[in-house]
Amino acid sequence: MSTTPTETSTATTASRGSAATESVDSFRDRARRWLADTLPPAPPITSGEQKSPEVWKRARELQRILYDGGFAGICFPTEYGGLGLSAAHQRAFTAESRGYEMPLALNVPTLTICAATLLDMGSEEQKRTHLPAVLRGQEAMVQFLSEPRGGSDLAGLTTRADRRGDRWILNGSKIWSSGAYAADYALCLARTDWEVPKHAGLTMFLLPIDSPGLTIRRITQVDGSTEFCQEFFDDVEIPADAVVGEVNDGWAVASRLLQHERSAVGGGSPYASGAEQHSGRDVRGLIEIARRTGQLDDPRVREEIGAAHAMNMVHDQLIAHVGARIAAGDLPPAAGSVVRLFSARNSWFQSDAALHIAGAAAATGDPGDDPGLGRAGQDYLFRQAWSLAGGSTEMARNIISERVLGMPREYAADRDVPFNQVQRGR
Ligand SMILES: Cc1cc2nc3c(=O)[nH]c(=O)nc-3n(C[C@H](O)[C@H](O)[C@H](O)COP(=O)(O)OP(=O)(O)OC[C@H]3O[C@@H](n4cnc5c(N)ncnc54)[C@H](O)[C@@H]3O)c2cc1C
Repeated sequence: MSTTPTETSTATTASRGSAATESVDSFRDRARRWLADTLPPAPPITSGEQKSPEVWKRARELQRILYDGGFAGICFPTEYGGLGLSAAHQRAFTAESRGYEMPLALNVPTLTICAATLLDMGSEEQKRTHLPAVLRGQEAMVQFLSEPRGGSDLAGLTTRADRRGDRWILNGSKIWSSGAYAADYALCLARTDWEVPKHAGLTMFLLPIDSPGLTIRRITQVDGSTEFCQEFFDDVEIPADAVVGEVNDGWAVASRLLQHERSAVGGGSPYASGAEQHSGRDVRGLIEIARRTGQLDDPRVREEIGAAHAMNMVHDQLIAHVGARIAAGDLPPAAGSVVRLFSARNSWFQSDAALHIAGAAAATGDPGDDPGLGRAGQDYLFRQAWSLAGGSTEMARNIISERVLGMPREYAADRDVPFNQVQRGR
């Protein structure tokens, strides 16, 4: 059952253990004062996706500060360490937290995707063990979904888990896992039955990252960062209670995970701690680039910054509108793909605008020494990632056409064929 937070403006729990009812406005005021008293201003945005060990350590500390202050897990239920408040409370906090240092490294995928999926699909014991630990900043998570042969056809994966007594033995490889090297647990989708069609033979596991036989290699990207990893599983043993959901019903868990992922990548997840910065929903960086390059009075530059601001406003409105319609049951959860698609377009728009305004300085500036100008160039190198992360924009269009607009499903020759009879690698 989905635990999508409500959109109501009041809720029955204002902070862990308290039974007070608090309006969104009161919550916003309290958050504003607490943030000003407690958290330092946000540090300058660093280039690309690279996160140092200090960034991860600091993110865990900040998450703990939020938890101790009664502002962690706003939409997570109180029994798992959250506040049990509404999506409107979450949006109010997110708006107030912009400009403060927040544990953003833990948002995607730990809080918004993995913890949200466990909340919906995990066993009671998994939820009671892991969700409070995540909300206290003690556990980071990663998703092991994509494989070297491709990520869009997720149900066609070939990493296998074979039953041996009361354990599972995992073999295969995953790739493009963001931040695996810094995580404690992974949600890992593997094939457990090869004699049924591809969607029917999958199981989701909650896998400790330090499992013997699991090797993680970091991948160096074109922008120099090494956030992506590839994993190799050599007879990794997984206990039976690590299954999330039911054996061979992993597609249901994966579908829920992808739903949370689209929402997170689109910037509309109710489970985040603070505002994501990669979605670029703040034109102050563009204004700074224009100021540094002496173009604040240039009508072309002003127009570009205005357009970028308008895109951000549309993005925010779209998140609120689609989120409210999904919560109200007027739109199917798959409508999150509309936000995900727009998010990619907006990320490209912001990235292109920064490059246009910075001009040659985007190429000559050193992102380390000169975060304003050099970052525009380095970010541009990562631009295309926003059309792939969280499922590609083409797949988002497929989902919108099939599951929101009700158009016919895309033809798939392997849909009803036992997976061990499907031709692969030709
Ligand atoms: C920033 C970022 C973070 C990521 N983090 C993770 C992570 O933590 N864990 C993880 O498992 N993966 C992660 N990924 C991988 C991501 O999920 C995949 O890149 C994505 O699913 C696409 O898979 P692929 O790259 O293998 O492309 P492919 O599936 O090989 O597709 C190649 C191209 O063909 C198009 N295509 C494929 N099938 C169709 C179709 N049926 N209709 C129309 N077009 C189609 C795709 O849109 C794409 O343009 C991340 C990716 C990025 C960029």
